[in-house]
Amino acid sequence: VGEGGEVTYKKIHTSQIMGSIQLGISHAVGGLASKPERDLLMQDFMTIETTNFYSQGSQLTPAHHYSDFRFKSFAPIAFRYFRDLFGIQPDDFLLSLCNEPLRELTNPGASGSIFYLSADDEFIIKTVQHKEGEFLMKLLLGYYMNLNQNPRTLLPKFFGLYCYICNSKNVRMVVMNNLLPSSIKLHEKYDLKGSTYKRKASKSERSKTVPTFKDLDFLELHPDGIMLEADTYNALIKTIQRDCRVLESFKIMDYSLLVAIHNLDLAAKEEAERRRNNSIGDEDSGEENGAVAGTSSGATGTTQPPPLVRSRSINRQKLVAHSTALESIQAESEPIDEEDDVPPGGIPARNAKGERLLIFLGIIDILQSYRLKKKLEHTLKAMIHDGDTVSVHRPGFYSQRFQNFMAKQVFRKVPSPLKHSPSKKK
Ligand code: ATP
Ligand code: CA
Ligand code: CA
Repeated sequence: VGEGGEVTYKKIHTSQIMGSIQLGISHAVGGLASKPERDLLMQDFMTIETTNFYSQGSQLTPAHHYSDFRFKSFAPIAFRYFRDLFGIQPDDFLLSLCNEPLRELTNPGASGSIFYLSADDEFIIKTVQHKEGEFLMKLLLGYYMNLNQNPRTLLPKFFGLYCYICNSKNVRMVVMNNLLPSSIKLHEKYDLKGSTYKRKASKSERSKTVPTFKDLDFLELHPDGIMLEADTYNALIKTIQRDCRVLESFKIMDYSLLVAIHNLDLAAKEEAERRRNNSIGDEDSGEENGAVAGTSSGATGTTQPPPLVRSRSINRQKLVAHSTALESIQAESEPIDEEDDVPPGGIPARNAKGERLLIFLGIIDILQSYRLKKKLEHTLKAMIHDGDTVSVHRPGFYSQRFQNFMAKQVFRKVPSPLKHSPSKKK
């Protein structure tokens, strides 16, 4: 945070970064319209397109109120193909990203990345390091071979890689699918790796409205795990296994499973409480009736009005195909029943108390390659700590431990059918 309370990244005000990348993306994606669709060629995975945006404008670019900047679009034709794969029309992509201000999220990560969320909740823009951008370029061909074969996956879906350059500072960013709905209150959120070494949320993280907890916190709060019906459990674990195989093949590690929980029973109670408070407030308007604080969800620190059980956006068709948690895990399984009365897209589950849950999840932060960065860190930590519990490990070990943790500790199979009982519905 810079002077005057303005958030900065690499000493550039983030409002300037946001406005500039919207211009850049708009130009890059809009310009693709003149290039006819065709099959992908090898070179499409290596192309970089660069455009200068002078504040006074040029024949190619509009005038703007920001500093002059340069914008690079990496592998634009390849990314267009990937957007196509997930049914994203160019116009919709631009409307989502460039038509309205983006929401800046507070990042619980240590990396200092900034995150922007599109107003319609579909996309996340994350700034990445130079190495991560380079790695994504190398990964692109193989990664999309996998996604092409199997779009039902919990792996992140990358829809663009860009670089904003201003005063010789480079801000690289990826556009990905957003995993967490903002219209639904998320009661708990976890970033899980399957490691127990230092995997506890910090004090400052805990003080947030919805902290992002880690592995040790999960074990403490859910010693019996989260219960899934057998079919759901099998579909989820199969998807995680398959995705881990892909990550392992690329020697990727240090990724997490982001797991967010909406507790339907708790939400109903909160709603009843809110109603009660409101009616008290009507009789005695002098009283403070703000007992229900604005909820924040997603990675956001932004406050929002209490979630509406039926908001328009909840029922709207998602722009990105096959990308809700529930859709992602159903490559081979029989369709998993979704209840009529609950927000769509979440995976039905229960906690040990028997409360009905909806789970939103996906694998995140996959642009760390073991080969590129982790070798030194591993040997150092391994010398100091028990090799088994160090969170930085060779990819095969990392992947196996990750899968074990998810399949045994985090998610549990309940033998009997566990339908959310209809009697509980209003
Ligand atoms: P670090 O490297 O320090 O772990 P990072 O800056 O690389 O952190 P991530 O681990 O990718 O950041 O993500 C940080 C947080 O941002 C996650 O815990 C999650 O709350 C949120 N987040 C990341 N990716 C997504 C996504 N695709 N959808 C929704 N939220 C996300
Ligand atoms: Ca991370
Ligand atoms: Ca990271």
